[in-house]
Amino acid sequence: MTDAEYKVEKARVQKYLDKWFKTMGLGWFKVNMEWSREHEGETAARTYSSWQYKQATITWFLPHMAKYDDETIETTVVHELVHVLLSGIAQNMVDDDETLSNQINEYTTELVTSALLWTREAGRDDQRKAVADLKRSVAKARNKTAK
Ligand SMILES: [Zn+2]
Repeated sequence: MTDAEYKVEKARVQKYLDKWFKTMGLGWFKVNMEWSREHEGETAARTYSSWQYKQATITWFLPHMAKYDDETIETTVVHELVHVLLSGIAQNMVDDDETLSNQINEYTTELVTSALLWTREAGRDDQRKAVADLKRSVAKARNKTAK
């Protein structure tokens, strides 16, 4: 990965971190971002957390993120930030079958990620409707005044 590619891919991820980090209430967390120029298998990002200290490190594997369109990058960013929020629960799931607890952790993280993305989109639709309603009301009031 060249310096120019690294800069572009880092900026693509950072754009969605800026959009979601504080919105998700992570302003009180210390989250260190690591930007990797290397591949690590099929891993796009990895989150380690010391939840009891509200600290985490997210490693972004930029060569992998470079394959993603913007929507997938946004979903991946929200997914990793949800891992930070849920890390206290995830690290304390006691289970004889580590695979099962990992699957439950990923499944729960995906559900919360989808809920956040849908909620934000629904809020945007509500705002559009409110603006349209307001414009209609103003137009109606102007028509009445004009008559
Ligand atoms: Zn995950």
